[in-house]
Amino acid sequence: MKKILISACLAGDFVRYDGKRKRIQDEVFNKWLQQGRLVKVCPEVSGGLCTPRLPAQIVGGEGIDVVHGNAKVQSIDGQDVTEAFLKGAELALTIVQENNIQITILKEKSPSCGVSQIYDGSFAGIKIQGSGVTTALLRKNGIQVFSELQVGLVESIINGTEEY
Ligand code: SF4
Repeated sequence: MKKILISACLAGDFVRYDGKRKRIQDEVFNKWLQQGRLVKVCPEVSGGLCTPRLPAQIVGGEGIDVVHGNAKVQSIDGQDVTEAFLKGAELALTIVQENNIQITILKEKSPSCGVSQIYDGSFAGIKIQGSGVTTALLRKNGIQVFSELQVGLVESIINGTEEY
């Protein structure tokens, strides 16, 4: 049985910047938990940041721009936390490679885990199209990344793929 990498906050860990979690409430998700299919990661915590922490956003681009050194991640107080975000993304990639994982489910809108939307760096609640740093690095390495809104889609992919 192949594993799925999942944002730790979606799996119920209290690791969000505000010390909370966003556990997925879904039968399929519960089945995956019972199967032992899920591997949890919080890139921001594994990158060295504490919980709770100040909210951070990507400034000057999106996740892939951070990966390429063309944008940065800043806390709301202006502190540059790019290094921690990149370190967390690298560690997530290592986990994926070590566990032969091809599918991941990450938390939408996060500067690390965002899949199709992130905030624009103004801390004014404005969302833009784009992905987080970890998502960008995983995709750059050929890993499929889905959001918590796509659990059903992931289940259908698993059911239609013999090796899963
Ligand atoms: Fe959740 Fe990802 Fe943010 Fe960690 S970095 S709290 S796993 S969204």
